[in-house]
Amino acid sequence: SYGFETVSGRDEKQARVNEVFHRVAERYDIMNDLMSGGMHRLWKDALVNMVAPSKRPGWRFLDVAGGTGDVAMRIVEASNRQAEGTVLDINGSMLAVGAERARKKGLDEHLLFVEGNAEDLKLPAESFDAYTIAFGIRNVPRIDLALSEAYRVLKPGGRFLCLEFSEVELPVLDKIYDLWSFKAIPAIGQAVAKDRDSYEYLVESIRRFPNQVNFASAIRKAGFDRVTYRNLTGGIAAIHSGWKL
Ligand code: SAM
Repeated sequence: SYGFETVSGRDEKQARVNEVFHRVAERYDIMNDLMSGGMHRLWKDALVNMVAPSKRPGWRFLDVAGGTGDVAMRIVEASNRQAEGTVLDINGSMLAVGAERARKKGLDEHLLFVEGNAEDLKLPAESFDAYTIAFGIRNVPRIDLALSEAYRVLKPGGRFLCLEFSEVELPVLDKIYDLWSFKAIPAIGQAVAKDRDSYEYLVESIRRFPNQVNFASAIRKAGFDRVTYRNLTGGIAAIHSGWKL
């Protein structure tokens, strides 16, 4: 269990998350660049490489907590514009920014933007070849439900891939990272988005998320096989992988 046990605690957490992303939607992508020093681009490249979308038509993926569609658009590009993706997010403001960007890039025929909750997908079972979630799962109150839903909607042979902030495993880097998270990120949030609170909240949510090993066992518990993870930048982020066999 990951805290927030009571129903009202869960609802409160989700409400807080929704408010944060509603407020930051317009500036979300530029803030990502500032806060990660551009690193989120490299981490997303690593994720898309692991997704390795098929370049034949008919290959389908679901990007949950897909926000402004950044990961989904990269996957479609990596498939030579063959893949069909569904971008699901609980926040209509993030999706609206994404849908507009997809239209401008001419990718809107490949992407469907759907409002929904990772805990209860309302999508048919066994319908996707891949499920991705990037910097999203730590915002979901009941991670175990999100993982079972991921398992349910994947086709047999389908792959689950999750990119998330994780536990820094390098001794010096962890000190630098602490300074960056607790001092710089709220300050950048204040300066650029006039919103220190939202960014303090995001930093806290990263610290509360289970570490690499514990998250891997939660994925196994949801039914996935061959669960592995790979650290990025000393564990600042990690990609977890699991297969529905
Ligand atoms: N995946 C995008 C990226 O990497 O740029 C966006 C990540 S953003 C940090 C987290 C997203 O999770 C937000 O768009 C938020 O609305 C979404 N989210 C939070 N709780 C959710 C839930 N229960 N179900 C679906 N999406 C959720």
